[in-house]
Amino acid sequence: MQYWRVYIMLCAYLVAAQPARAWGFFSHRLINRLAVYTLPREMIGFYKANIDYLTDNATRPDSRRTVVPGEAPRHFLDVDVYGDSAVYKLPRSYADAVALLGEDSLLRHGIVPWQVVRMKGQLTEAFRAHETDRILHLSADLGHYIADACVPLHATHNYNGQLTNQRGIHALWESRLPELLSSGYDFFTGPAPYLDRPTDVIWAAVGRSAAATDSVLRFERELTLKFPEDRKYGFEQRGNLTVRAYSRDFAREYHQRLNGQVERQMRLALRLVGAFWYTAWVDAGQPDLDKLPRSPSRREQERLALEAKQTAEPTTKAPVPGHEE
Ligand SMILES: [Zn+2]
Repeated sequence: MQYWRVYIMLCAYLVAAQPARAWGFFSHRLINRLAVYTLPREMIGFYKANIDYLTDNATRPDSRRTVVPGEAPRHFLDVDVYGDSAVYKLPRSYADAVALLGEDSLLRHGIVPWQVVRMKGQLTEAFRAHETDRILHLSADLGHYIADACVPLHATHNYNGQLTNQRGIHALWESRLPELLSSGYDFFTGPAPYLDRPTDVIWAAVGRSAAATDSVLRFERELTLKFPEDRKYGFEQRGNLTVRAYSRDFAREYHQRLNGQVERQMRLALRLVGAFWYTAWVDAGQPDLDKLPRSPSRREQERLALEAKQTAEPTTKAPVPGHEE
């Protein structure tokens, strides 16, 4: 019953949602929001009471990329720079990875699976400590990094097709396609499962993303041969701006060739977000969430407002290393 309701609410949400300022914002918000409905009865009341918080703060890690040192590498892992089948061989412990590869290399090529595991541990601690503020902000952030791990172009050095003359493909896959076409997606995933081996699960997700990069890039290349330049691109209104973007025709045909890939990856992401939240709660001994304050404290709200102000201000710092998207 509960999941049918999700479906109806999702439709309402999609209708109400405005195209996001930056593309990935749309998907991140949706994934965190829908993940709430995968949770068990003991958790869903608390998470539902904060569903707007989890939605609105789903994009905070992206917003702070240019102002928080060390933030950028948390969103991706360029698996291909470490050679064939690296995803199976890289050390699962961050300390071992540093010892083997050096921290410079790790930070340059991304650390998303280690970041997810680290945050899962922090969220477990927050549940143990019964701290609403930490539970909420760690849940929102963790949802963001898990969703990033499910994006194929977050698992390759050629993350924006910059090495193969396919610049813009990152935003096409992750933004344009869901914004244009996700209203027909089926997001039914069933209840969040408990993860016996969360580390293996997030690494498997990165492996799946890495395996999908080939078709993501190849289909765009094949389609480009069919589309003359003036049909491949068009102009779109974004707020007050008119921007050049992949045309709707190109996006639709590309989407069709991908054969449900974006939908599958979004569904995987929201299922994993729910599963990691649930697993952290179980590992913390299943604390009674109904006894916690239902909303973030005033202090936390002030901190978030300050952070939003700081990340909104233009920065004069040099761009951070790593993927720019
Ligand atoms: Zn991100």
